[in-house]
Amino acid sequence: MALAEILMLGRMLPLVETSLDKQFTVHRATAADVAALPADLCARVQAVAGGPHIPVNAALIDRLPSLEIVANFGVGYDSVDARYCATKGICVTNTPDVLSEEVADTAMGLLLMAARELPAAERYLRAGQWVAKGPFPLTRATLRGRKLGILGLGRIGKAIARRAEAFGLEIHYHGRSRQPDVAYRYHETLLGMAEACDTLMVVAPGGASTKGIVNAEVLQALGPEGIVVNVGRGTVIDEPALVKALQDGTILSAGLDVFEDEPRVPQALIDLEHVVLLPHVGSASQHTRNAMGQLVVDNLLSWFQNGKPVTPVAETPFVRKV
Ligand code: NDP
Repeated sequence: MALAEILMLGRMLPLVETSLDKQFTVHRATAADVAALPADLCARVQAVAGGPHIPVNAALIDRLPSLEIVANFGVGYDSVDARYCATKGICVTNTPDVLSEEVADTAMGLLLMAARELPAAERYLRAGQWVAKGPFPLTRATLRGRKLGILGLGRIGKAIARRAEAFGLEIHYHGRSRQPDVAYRYHETLLGMAEACDTLMVVAPGGASTKGIVNAEVLQALGPEGIVVNVGRGTVIDEPALVKALQDGTILSAGLDVFEDEPRVPQALIDLEHVVLLPHVGSASQHTRNAMGQLVVDNLLSWFQNGKPVTPVAETPFVRKV
């Protein structure tokens, strides 16, 4: 029987590339190649595998008439037009759960680093200033007594909440709906949560419904001791408003793993010494990235061998039509 044909967008982990090469006929394309894929190849592609860097948009989907499944590397799938896939009966899968604990660790690390200025303290020691000038100045902020508002109490948000409970923080959350199985305080509006909290943990997905919802008004409501951590998507925060709020002291600090136009980070943020910036490393350990890669492979194998995916996204709860 002919092997199913897969279009791999960009480079993937060695584990993924090796496994897919064994089981499928794999065609590789860079971002530059996508615009000029030969029509005969497009006609044969049954599956797309890729990460967030090359969008799977309506224009690409329309050029792949045999496409059955898009296997996305990552739990966030805002680079795939899943709604459009749904209208065409194409299944989209992502990589949930296997990365939640890793991302939650990163989120708590960012919060601790931002509150206690740990990266600046480390830079101080390495620059010889402990010897030259004496102790690092006391930090204005502490985690003690903080009220943490979680925007997006999903799989990762809950893993963060469990950690934050152990740190003694008071936990609030906002999402589109109240969750009956949690005891944390629910807020119907993001602004209402920001007014009740001084620390905002952003872990909501990207996309149109969350674009810029952390705006100047929300930042103002957090107040001058406010700390914002973002491990969700850069687009959820109005980035110019955040830069301004950090520059003029509307809020105290931020810890950011994601940005609006990655990998480009505004120079104005880089210039703010007390703000903590990471290059989107939330899930980036070998252990967790390999688990995510295995789930990409498992989804494709399950689709073509058993007729159903392992982890379809909510918009495309499909089985394979044979
Ligand atoms: P889940 O789907 O489990 O959780 C998402 C949460 O966001 C839900 O609680 C949902 O609640 C809430 N939400 C969704 N839309 C909105 C909205 N419009 N307004 C307010 N709340 C909303 O996802 P995960 O926890 O698994 O992942 C969350 C996100 O984290 C991913 O989409 C991705 O963008 C990001 N991520 C970042 C990583 C990194 O490396 N920094 C790594 C992995 C993920 P409700 O439905 O009630 O609104």
